[in-house]
Amino acid sequence: MRPGRRRHRARLWTRALVGAAVVMTVVVVGALALTGGGSDRSILSTVTSTTSVSTSASAQRLPVAVPVTILPGPVAPVISKIPTTNPVVFFTIDDGLVRDPAAVDFIRVHHIPVTLFVLPVPLQQDPAYFLTLAQVGASVQDHTVHHLPLRKLSAARQVQEVCGSIDLLHRTFGRRPWLFRPPYGDYNTSTKYAVRQCGLQAIVTWQGTMNDGVLRLQHPGPLQRGDIILMHFRPDLRRNLEVLLKAAKTAGLVAAPLEQYLTEPTP
Ligand SMILES: [Zn+2]
Repeated sequence: MRPGRRRHRARLWTRALVGAAVVMTVVVVGALALTGGGSDRSILSTVTSTTSVSTSASAQRLPVAVPVTILPGPVAPVISKIPTTNPVVFFTIDDGLVRDPAAVDFIRVHHIPVTLFVLPVPLQQDPAYFLTLAQVGASVQDHTVHHLPLRKLSAARQVQEVCGSIDLLHRTFGRRPWLFRPPYGDYNTSTKYAVRQCGLQAIVTWQGTMNDGVLRLQHPGPLQRGDIILMHFRPDLRRNLEVLLKAAKTAGLVAAPLEQYLTEPTP
């Protein structure tokens, strides 16, 4: 075959494959749109975007994530659960005071997508630990400067706490954070304004916690799809990861990247 013809045939194959991928994507999105819905969507609208493709082994078998659109405006929404038809849960880990390499190994071996809300002091003490986590796919987001209960602070002090760690996170990980978790889950209306004033998109809380190998949920029954679970960088993290992974499996769920289920900010 002449090289020109070979190239032509290769182009045809490429077109055919791209066409097939588009058709499949439309079918997946259509199916999700048909089965979607839920009361949680009243404050958050959804889009049928197909830009998010999972990179984790555990989530690759899932239908494409249909991200929740975070609406613009001066007040950030509070998200404790993601409305989704996918069988997913979200692993989040806070602070950074105890840095167990075994936890990193567990996350790496099991391809667990995690979202970290890290404080500046532990990050500056041991940036390598958190950079290793970022290299295995962790997303790193904002958790204030001094870990104070925000409701006790004035609106101006809240802005300082929320904005104050963003540059360090951006410099360290090469990406600006866009989600915020209030220490102790403690926030008020001023926090919602502060988060937007600092250029962040949403406040992320949780539906359950893992401590000493015990999962405590805020709703009855087992883990549910879309649940966001809180853990900490403490000595029990490795065990908590294992217990939560098993609980997810028992409930027919897999860990998925939280960021893929929320719209990302425009760069
Ligand atoms: Zn914390």
